[in-house]
Amino acid sequence: MFWDIGGVLLTNGWDREQRATTSARFGLDATDFAERHKLAAPELERGRMSLAEYMEQTVFHTPRDFTPGDFRAAMEAESQPQADTLAYARDLGQRWRMYALNNEGRDLNEYRVRTYTLSDFLLGFFTSCYLGVLKPNPAMYRLGLDLAHVRADEAVMIDDRPQNAEAARSVGMHAVRYQNAAQLREELAALGVK
Ligand SMILES: [Mg+2]
Repeated sequence: MFWDIGGVLLTNGWDREQRATTSARFGLDATDFAERHKLAAPELERGRMSLAEYMEQTVFHTPRDFTPGDFRAAMEAESQPQADTLAYARDLGQRWRMYALNNEGRDLNEYRVRTYTLSDFLLGFFTSCYLGVLKPNPAMYRLGLDLAHVRADEAVMIDDRPQNAEAARSVGMHAVRYQNAAQLREELAALGVK
């Protein structure tokens, strides 16, 4: 089983909602920040730019009355557990081989994995910042399958974004488009996951 993290096990890491809340809180110019984020984010998520470098380009390119530490703490505070799904996944992890297959920058990914002890039940982290490729590129799913040494038809991807679930199906994996814990439980049961 391959798990997306943001929007499934935890809230999104640094998606539209988190950026809107945080940029409003610090009084950033929304248009300027959005433009700068758009250029820097793919490199951040591919692990080619650190969080400090990302913040330097998107927020601290001009003097601010708050510090990078303040901004980073606010970013991290946006990461909250989706408790029902997390508890369900922890239980499944006792019987199934499970891995993360997610898009995230290195710093925020490590914060999230450590804070919510995701390595207790996920055996490996096939994350964009380590693999250098992003979902929904099919290459990302093939890498996950190769590194876990599992056939596509033996694997299921759980992801909240329709496009990411479709990409998993395009390489022959099963996929569940996650909506909530109850729906996930039902759809996995239909695939024989009890
Ligand atoms: Mg997601």
